[in-house]
Amino acid sequence: MSSTENAVFACYGHCSTCDMDTRFVAYRDWFRDFFVCTHCGSVPRERALMLVIDRWFPEWRGAIVHESSPAVRGASAKLARECPGYIASQFFPDHSGEMDVGGTRNENLERLTFGDSSVDLHVTQDVFEHVLDPDQAFREIARTLRPGGMHIFTVPITTKEKPSRVRARIINGAIHHLLPEQYHGNPVGDGRALVTVDWGYDICERIFLASGLFTHIVHLDDLEHGVRAEHIEVLVTTKPAQHAHARIPNSDTTATGFCR
Ligand SMILES: [Zn+2]
Repeated sequence: MSSTENAVFACYGHCSTCDMDTRFVAYRDWFRDFFVCTHCGSVPRERALMLVIDRWFPEWRGAIVHESSPAVRGASAKLARECPGYIASQFFPDHSGEMDVGGTRNENLERLTFGDSSVDLHVTQDVFEHVLDPDQAFREIARTLRPGGMHIFTVPITTKEKPSRVRARIINGAIHHLLPEQYHGNPVGDGRALVTVDWGYDICERIFLASGLFTHIVHLDDLEHGVRAEHIEVLVTTKPAQHAHARIPNSDTTATGFCR
């Protein structure tokens, strides 16, 4: 992919995931999926995630880092390469209760097997738009993070300022579709993942109400690092270092926003 003859855009820069000076090239105008590093193939949201991990959690190389459903390239590859405490897992819904499926750790974000306060950093990339009970998953993230730990993740915030839309949920043990079915690619199972929520900026309030933890939305636009595209916000949920337990708000909380 050295030719840029048919590119709609190209620029030189430094890739945060392969650590190389490189050329970023887009052959289509949807940069989120097609503005790639010509050295490692990473896309903007992966490079944005790695920049945010480096800046917000610089001690990651010596930490216990769990990533749910990692990619084979980009930030996942760098974390696996440089962090001895990196734990990758996939979710195999048909193997409930089995810790190991074909040599891969099986973790359901809604019922993590990690102990309380045992993980320094949870990482997820475009996973939370596929979780059927995100509130429970946010609680599990909060439970398993050690005080001072973080969940750093990408999720497409497609409805932006409009309320998040639930597309599918479990009712009486079966998936109930509230909106027409939509799927993204999935590296395991039948190769597709049902979209369960179209998220908006209210995701921060949702995380707070579920888990008591605050979340920052970090928006980077940084061509020097090949970071430009729609829907590449990186979210950082932090478990306070000073408290052993997250603060759970009263049900009558009336604050209008919990992003800070
Ligand atoms: Zn790269």
